[in-house]
Amino acid sequence: MGHSRAEISSADLIIINSCAVTSGAEKESGKFSRKVKRLNPMAEILETGCRARIPGASPPVEGAVLSGSFIYLDHPGLGVERFSGRSRAFLKVQQGCSGGCTYCSVKDLKKPFFLRSPERVLAEASDLARSHAEIVLCATNFALYAPLPGLVKGMRSLEGDFRWRISSVPPGVLTKELMLELEKDPGFCRHFHIPLQSASDRVLELMGRPYRMSHIRKALSDASEILEGVTFSLDIIAGFPGEEPEDFRKTLDFIRDIVPVKVHVFRYSPRPGTAAFSMKDTVGEEERKNRARLLIEVSSRMRRIRFEEAKGRPAEVVLEADGRGYTRGYLPVNAGSYKGTEKGVVRLEKVELRGSELRGTCI
Ligand code: SF4
Repeated sequence: MGHSRAEISSADLIIINSCAVTSGAEKESGKFSRKVKRLNPMAEILETGCRARIPGASPPVEGAVLSGSFIYLDHPGLGVERFSGRSRAFLKVQQGCSGGCTYCSVKDLKKPFFLRSPERVLAEASDLARSHAEIVLCATNFALYAPLPGLVKGMRSLEGDFRWRISSVPPGVLTKELMLELEKDPGFCRHFHIPLQSASDRVLELMGRPYRMSHIRKALSDASEILEGVTFSLDIIAGFPGEEPEDFRKTLDFIRDIVPVKVHVFRYSPRPGTAAFSMKDTVGEEERKNRARLLIEVSSRMRRIRFEEAKGRPAEVVLEADGRGYTRGYLPVNAGSYKGTEKGVVRLEKVELRGSELRGTCI
């Protein structure tokens, strides 16, 4: 199949990999398709991914075609695994979920279930390490990737100048055994993104999440002990049905306790077909907005604390073409026009805090 990359304005075919994790994400996917159509009315538009898989979904713009295919899985030859022009590469190791989260529609859309063997992942990682400075291992649910400890060992044995991280780790994955293995690997970026969703056991139970706060606190305390300097970020859902003010307060307190570098706040959005869809909405849209706003406020203050800690210290940042990138601990840094090495790595003598952003001074 002859093809080459093109700008949106001159492409013959535009493939949009859509999202449906929340109703907001669904709307964003549709908005992006309309923007693309305006920029290039003559192009064929193919929408793939989760939104395209919703039963009865209509094309996002007139003439667009929906495809139930996941491009990355079905057409590895298309070149998306090369991430041209990017310093960071994303490597999918597993897809699909058999979890019982009551708010989740993704588990029904991300099919079929697949799991790549560590051998295959390592072979791809080895290829990616030649042209990318950072590799991010991704999965729908790492708890279902049983060979993770072996994969982690294998990542350590790969040659090349690259660093790597795990995209999102359910709390159950954070075992002492895994952390001790990660501790031996200087290439591993010591940051865990945890899809926590709430810090109230009562709400976690309503959500069908398979862990409780005592597990989380223990896992995070082990991580901090074993992996010096480790940082965390969180996903939190604001205003789940049944979330009482006391539950919400526990979540705010937990955020203040662990001082995450980032909190992704999702306002609860009822998804048809899920168990939570028929739960009594005890929170209401206005209060949901209010709680989301408070979560953002508190997490911004916590991020600021992390920025203050980083100030004046050296950092290794992997930059993208716009001169922006992330430290190992997942703090964003703006290094201006400095482009770093060919792969985008820059070792900064120190980072400075200017206004609300970290800026880089190059060595
Ligand atoms: S773990 Fe829960 S939220 Fe995540 S994909 Fe599985 S069912 Fe959905």
